[in-house]
Amino acid sequence: MNYVSTRGRAPVLGFEDVLLTGLASDGGLYVPESWPQFSAAELTACAGRSYAEVAVKIIAPFVGDAVPAATLGALAADAYRGFAHPATAPLVQIDDNDWLLELFHGPTLAFKDFALQLLGRLFDHVLSKRGERVTVVGATSGDTGSAAIAAFKDRANLEIFILHPKDRVSEVQRRQMTTVAAANVHNIAIEGSFDDCQALVKAMFNDAQFRAALNLSAVNSINWARVMAQVVYYVTAAVALGGPARPVAFAVPTGNFGDAYAGYVASRCGLPVARLVVATNRNDILARLFHFGRYLPGEVVATMSPSMDIQVASNFERLLFELCRRDGAAVEARLSLLAKDGQFDLTAQQLAEVRGMFDSARIDEDETLAEIGRVFERCGRLIDPHSAIGSAAARKRRGAKTVPMIALATAHAAKFPDAVVRATGLRPELPASFQGLMDEREHYAVLARDLGAVQTYIRDRAGRSDHGHN
Ligand SMILES: *Cc1c(COP(=O)(O)O)cnc(C)c1O
Repeated sequence: MNYVSTRGRAPVLGFEDVLLTGLASDGGLYVPESWPQFSAAELTACAGRSYAEVAVKIIAPFVGDAVPAATLGALAADAYRGFAHPATAPLVQIDDNDWLLELFHGPTLAFKDFALQLLGRLFDHVLSKRGERVTVVGATSGDTGSAAIAAFKDRANLEIFILHPKDRVSEVQRRQMTTVAAANVHNIAIEGSFDDCQALVKAMFNDAQFRAALNLSAVNSINWARVMAQVVYYVTAAVALGGPARPVAFAVPTGNFGDAYAGYVASRCGLPVARLVVATNRNDILARLFHFGRYLPGEVVATMSPSMDIQVASNFERLLFELCRRDGAAVEARLSLLAKDGQFDLTAQQLAEVRGMFDSARIDEDETLAEIGRVFERCGRLIDPHSAIGSAAARKRRGAKTVPMIALATAHAAKFPDAVVRATGLRPELPASFQGLMDEREHYAVLARDLGAVQTYIRDRAGRSDHGHN
């Protein structure tokens, strides 16, 4: 499979290079040159298979011949072995035909483990094969960082630097990153928002000299391989509820639009998806976009669902590319309007096309608490605020009762205990394997929102564990 940039000016690359590169050299994002198609028979054959088996089936056409089939099978089996639930991504019924897809049984208790556990192993495989080293740099609103660190710690061929917005991630999220004592792991708290962290990472990638000198690599949700890995659970959930014969709907707690876009990819590859409900918190750039057709970033406000406190939904560029009929120049024209005027509009036709697949709902703080309380009363489950936003949006935009509605539960309640206590009076317990987390020593630097300072910090430390480690 070959990959093209959404801005049309970067070289066409194969899977290995797209995996290691992240962002395209023209500032765009890589997408497959064409969409592989899964037939109804192939999808039906996924029913009853293990999660790792389905993963291999779905991922194989995207990977092409970059990883031999047997190796891919072994990597996938290994990636999902560490999940605490035998179904890996279990479905739980919470109402008549309403379901929660629990995506938080991985090693850091959020859905990002699904992609990053696989990515860590793919990186290892490709880097050892090529005899290369990379410097992984990423921004996190909380969950990407911990999931990336869990997947990349102690890997021999790379150094990993994770920027998080200081005091804007939960204590559990921060500790999951900062208590990892591996020599190749470097945490940086930035005095700013998640969007500031993301802008710094983008600027480092756009600095060609810095990027080449350190062999930079991105594992943010702009990395295509993450999207690819997330397509899998849309398939397992749909076939478990009667797909592909019966279309299903999903409600997706959304920030950077990586997860919801993976649902779109599943549909482009042949999975019957009735509707994708994009659920946002008060940072509602996408809910406004899908309503009014205008992409207009606002000020980020801090909420109980910090992993969705984003006003620059990077992965939307991938959908825009499709809406522009895969014309990179048209994508660039929109983005230069954004840079110049701070906004751009979809055409009436593009908006109609978006609405053919996507719906959206904005859930405020009170509604989030009410939903945590409601789900607890109704079925005795404690859900986290991100999952509650998905679940509340699913109810607001329910549509036909005959279509199963699957709300993605993206984090474990114990990752965001304060909101759960406020809503229910009950404190969700961390699973036993996390009990030591709150006592372990933390390691991180605090830096200003300053590109030069961050680059110096990284330059000074990249490659250091070559010498210092064991
Ligand atoms: C990252 C994250 C989201 C948002 O996912 P996107 O792919 O960025 O839209 C939602 N919930 C949780 C718990 C997350 O960690």
